[in-house]
Amino acid sequence: MRQDASILIIDDDPASIQVLARLLGEMDEMGELRFALDGEEGLALARQAAPDLVLLDAGLPGLDGFEVCRRLKADADLASVPVIFVTAQHDTATELAGLSAGAVDCIGKPPLAPIVVARVRTQLRLKQLADELRRAALTDALTGLANRRRFDEQLEREWLRAQRQGAPLSLLMIDIDHFKAYNDRLGHRAGDACLREVAQAIAAQARRPGDEAARWGGEEFALLLPATDEAGARFIADSLVAAVVELGLPHAGSSLCGGRVTVSVGGCTQRTPGSAAALVEGADQALYLAKRRGRARACWLPGPRGDAVDAVDAMDAADAVDRASSGPADA
Ligand code: GH3
Ligand code: MG
Ligand code: MG
Repeated sequence: MRQDASILIIDDDPASIQVLARLLGEMDEMGELRFALDGEEGLALARQAAPDLVLLDAGLPGLDGFEVCRRLKADADLASVPVIFVTAQHDTATELAGLSAGAVDCIGKPPLAPIVVARVRTQLRLKQLADELRRAALTDALTGLANRRRFDEQLEREWLRAQRQGAPLSLLMIDIDHFKAYNDRLGHRAGDACLREVAQAIAAQARRPGDEAARWGGEEFALLLPATDEAGARFIADSLVAAVVELGLPHAGSSLCGGRVTVSVGGCTQRTPGSAAALVEGADQALYLAKRRGRARACWLPGPRGDAVDAVDAMDAADAVDRASSGPADA
């Protein structure tokens, strides 16, 4: 059972808040209790930090409880917070109005202790389950990093934010070098352990709040760096390549860095206009370039920042020179 539930009580009657607070305060699940005396204040508190449950008085002055409930449900960050109406006018019409505003339950005033505790407990349990499911659905089970689904959501969100703010957005695509050989020699269990260690090294580079390290799939990872320009992202990409070498994981199937596990990194930085897809494409092309250039390094597309099309032309030209001078590429 959880012991850190955060509950917000919105009621214009301090005596009523006191009664509820005393009942809830005795529950083992309780973490934090917050109070608001009107709807606006309640919404502001909820937006500061999402509670696990809201106990909402229907008859509030100003914004009434139904409107407060509708606004909570319309807010993407608060829509999953269950709301229980607590109302002196406990009739069918009021209950129905509460439920259609998005509440999960309705309790009459004055509240009966065992009823309040039982109903609150039920909603907290459901909320906890829903939170766990959501977390699991967005986490990669092997590494604990964000999974592809979560990454796609964040990329979209950060792309829009970057556009609004006119800020740069950088993306690193990361791929473990010669990882098939690692698995072939040491087995998939060792391969999995290696993936976890590399994932931790990548997560350690995600230092700012908006930074997102994710498993893209297989032995490929992505690191999204909001409000980070090319110079900043290059610094992080180089640190990451070095950090993986410093893990010192032996890789007999690779001659890179004295037979250690290494990663190749492709980076791309874009300012608006552009698209999230073009950012991914740019980082992918740069990763391809890092592999061609010998692996265990971070590469960026040549040419104008983030201009994937020009860069691919430039890359093909460079590869043509490589092929002419040194035979087939090794990737
Ligand atoms: P390169 O340096 O060009 O990236 O070569 P590579 O061998 O790393 O690339 P390739 O794409 O040929 O092989 C990727 C390997 O990653 C294939 C597969 O054995 C391994 N792999 C993918 N997902 C997992 C996983 O979840 N666990 C383990 N142990 N191995 C995985
Ligand atoms: Mg790969
Ligand atoms: Mg690889």
